[in-house]
Amino acid sequence: ETGESLNFIEHIVEEDLKQGYSRSDLRFRFPPEPNGYLHIGHASSICLNFGLGERYNAPVNLRFDDTNPIKEEKSYVEAIKRDVEWLGFSWDTERYASDYFQQLYDWAVLLIKEGKAYVDSQSSEEMAAQKGTPYEPGTESPYRNRSVDENLELFQGMKEGNFEEGSHVLRAKIDMAAQNMLMRDPIMYRVLHKAHHRTDTDWCIYPMYDWTHGESDYIEQVSHSLCTLEFAMHRELYDWFLDQVVDSGKLRPKQREFARRNLSHTVVSKRKLLQLVEQGVVDGWDDPRMPTISGMRRRGYTPEAIRNFADTVGIAKRENLVDVSLLEFHVREHLNKIAPRVMGVLDPLKVVITNYPEGEEEWLETENNPEDESAGTRRIPFSREIYIERADFREEANRKYFRLKLGKEVRLKSAYIIKAESCTKDADGDITEVQCTYDPKSKSGSGTEESKRKVKGTLHWVSIPHAVETEVRLYDRLFTDESPDTHKDKSFMELINPDSLDVVKGYAEPGVANAVVGDRVQFQRLGYFCVDPDSSEEKIIFNRTVGLRDTWAK
Ligand code: ATP
Ligand code: MG
Ligand code: MG
Repeated sequence: ETGESLNFIEHIVEEDLKQGYSRSDLRFRFPPEPNGYLHIGHASSICLNFGLGERYNAPVNLRFDDTNPIKEEKSYVEAIKRDVEWLGFSWDTERYASDYFQQLYDWAVLLIKEGKAYVDSQSSEEMAAQKGTPYEPGTESPYRNRSVDENLELFQGMKEGNFEEGSHVLRAKIDMAAQNMLMRDPIMYRVLHKAHHRTDTDWCIYPMYDWTHGESDYIEQVSHSLCTLEFAMHRELYDWFLDQVVDSGKLRPKQREFARRNLSHTVVSKRKLLQLVEQGVVDGWDDPRMPTISGMRRRGYTPEAIRNFADTVGIAKRENLVDVSLLEFHVREHLNKIAPRVMGVLDPLKVVITNYPEGEEEWLETENNPEDESAGTRRIPFSREIYIERADFREEANRKYFRLKLGKEVRLKSAYIIKAESCTKDADGDITEVQCTYDPKSKSGSGTEESKRKVKGTLHWVSIPHAVETEVRLYDRLFTDESPDTHKDKSFMELINPDSLDVVKGYAEPGVANAVVGDRVQFQRLGYFCVDPDSSEEKIIFNRTVGLRDTWAK
């Protein structure tokens, strides 16, 4: 092994290899429920499981945990596959818990025959009242000692659709006095007269998570079944269910737990994200403000950045909150290397260069990416009338203001040095135009003495007659609170940032007209932007991915 540090799950695997597992025994899975889109928390789990697959050259299955037809949909299955692939991982086989419905049923029948499962015909309220508390044993169901024959007949009746929802459940007969409440005769099956996105109406009983998950791991011969901490108490039940079916000579899966990834200023729960979608707070699962993989993709995040983030943060044994600015740092770091630079102005102020000949233009050379020489150069048009950023001009300002002010010079990026001579205002006193003069000998890269003259401040700009008008969507955090799910007296829905989206009209250099959906650029001095799929032939729309610096006021 190299000197790199292993995470605690990798230590567990290493230990198992020392204790007799062979490398070919190793197999992992990523098991999403198709009841929503994947989010940044899932990305951590994906990186963990597929990372193990890469490290040990072991297969990783994509298993849909599709046992609840009420909340699951085919469209979610498709979105999940797209997102895992986009992150850059490929699964060994695509599996579905629903593939195992018959096997799970057969095993349940076996448990009944062995006196280890029974049909309970009480209401869910009655069963809940009998559960007891962690300090007191529960009460046994009056149906607990039904005969095997009666149980078999009822269970078959449940399967054949003879009973209403809620009339019967199948329970494992374990121990109503167990310390671990989950071991107090847990439910294995419930009646649900609902069509399933894969098995349609073949089944009207559906297996519960605990009964399904470990057995599915066993069927697939998954060696390490990694889940989040809230399942730690379920491990005993996972093991009990496996005890009922594991054959000697076959590999017995192990459940091990790691802490969920929580990210600041957002929620990572499909249920809560669904609420944002359904209540129209956002414009769908892939809204660029969502912490979903598809939202981050649409916003312009790269798979590399998300993976680097997941690798840097790693996995933990205890939950903690990671600041979203760390994710943004990785996005910026990657985009800095790959995003071509372009000039765009988002809050335009007209500048007229009075000594530049009217009706003339010239094309100036500029670098595409100073971080990447192989990115080459391009030409951008310059003319008498340009836009600069409104915030880049002041009539008067102190000596620390290195942008344009009356009587002072700045350099226009890749162009000339200009000097502000005067400005025009409207009736409200707002500046509508700045008149400048330029130094014709100061052209960038021309080698003249004037071109080498040092002036404090370089501005981005666009030539007005050549500019492409664009819509620019500026995003801010979706929540005003650092941890909206755990706020002491407000629900996350009350903590939504009312200003999370600002739509402005921007102007960009003409080459931008050729950009296609998904293209990522850096608007110089402004940040990274990505072409949104809402763009059309007539209108190009940019999403602001992230600013150039972390400017969020703490
Ligand atoms: P949600 O509450 O968002 O629906 P879930 O755990 O129910 O999350 P699943 O589709 O069951 O969602 O999750 C698939 C896998 O991803 C599981 O192994 C789960 O433990 C893991 N996972 C889900 N959320 C996170 C998270 N925030 N951090 C790390 N892993 C996660
Ligand atoms: Mg789940
Ligand atoms: Mg869930």
